[in-house]
Amino acid sequence: MTRFFYTPEIELYDFGPQHPLKYQRLQLTLELLDRYGVFQTMPVEAPRMPSEEELLLIHTSEYLDAVKTLSAGEDVPEAHNYGFWELGDNPPFAGMWEAALAYTGATVCATEAVLAGEKCAINIGGGLHHALPSRASGFCVLADPAIALEMLKKRFKRLAYVDIDLHHGDGPQWIFYQDPDVLTVSIHESGQWLFPGTGNVTEIGEEEGRGTCVNIPLAPLTGDEVWQHAFETIGLGALQRFQPEAIVLQMGSDPHALDPLGHLHLSAQGWVWAVEQVKNLGLPIVALGGGGYNLTTVPRMWTMAIAALAGIPLPDETPETFSWKADIPRLTDQQVPALSKQEQQAAQQFAEQTIDWMTANHPLWL
Ligand SMILES: [Zn+2]
Repeated sequence: MTRFFYTPEIELYDFGPQHPLKYQRLQLTLELLDRYGVFQTMPVEAPRMPSEEELLLIHTSEYLDAVKTLSAGEDVPEAHNYGFWELGDNPPFAGMWEAALAYTGATVCATEAVLAGEKCAINIGGGLHHALPSRASGFCVLADPAIALEMLKKRFKRLAYVDIDLHHGDGPQWIFYQDPDVLTVSIHESGQWLFPGTGNVTEIGEEEGRGTCVNIPLAPLTGDEVWQHAFETIGLGALQRFQPEAIVLQMGSDPHALDPLGHLHLSAQGWVWAVEQVKNLGLPIVALGGGGYNLTTVPRMWTMAIAALAGIPLPDETPETFSWKADIPRLTDQQVPALSKQEQQAAQQFAEQTIDWMTANHPLWL
């Protein structure tokens, strides 16, 4: 059985009306899943709050204190050292601590479910993959994917983190960079063009963790076919070589062609294919959300991903009762904006370079 953890308190994680991270993306996803009747077979479970001990698996107590203090509206000297400033990506807001605890709690509960023997557990409000032990980054305050990985070590020896977000999954990468038991795999738009600027093929892990970090940087305007080929060859190839026992899957939906933050060019169904491939490995999965900033693409992509993980087939036409039926008439894309031959070739050449470098140089392929 697949479990689903959610609380509307996660929607209070909101950096303000001008910020691209909109809580409606979660509300609309939940509504669409509900209208499809998905929660009749997979009920929504309310998470508990994470314990201090669970947060300290990854974060420093100084950082947690800074988040609490800023959240209460008080000043923290040198708050920018922790990644917080008014005009940055992570402007501190009242209630930030509680909201971050809410999404982290849902990830902790999903992880506990997998530790207890479930095949799959989902927190679509999690997957905040830029946070570091003592620094907020890229809209991410608490590093819930890393907490999940650390918790899974109680039962599983070898773990994989798989990240299909538009952006490089730098948080888990750096946190487990020297860890031989955690493979991190991220497919993303290259840091040459996009935040956070990292995720190059040459980042392969270090010391005992050398060879347990895999990056698949791609060029702007990479479409379904090229993205899937790169994911299959390098992403699934790495998982097959490493042989993990459980997976944390970050399902950022921002690689979509219509997402405003980046330049990958996927369709909804092209992206969901990767979720299905990971599911088909048959390993226990903690599945998390992530980026995704276009309100007409995120809800249907996450609905498709969650239904795929839960093994619930859905008709492509969205239910008449869905409040955004006019804007989201179907789950899949009938078409994405066309690319020129030249654009397609440039993306394909870049992907081939990435694949060639990995298979010729990465320790997992040697
Ligand atoms: Zn992203």
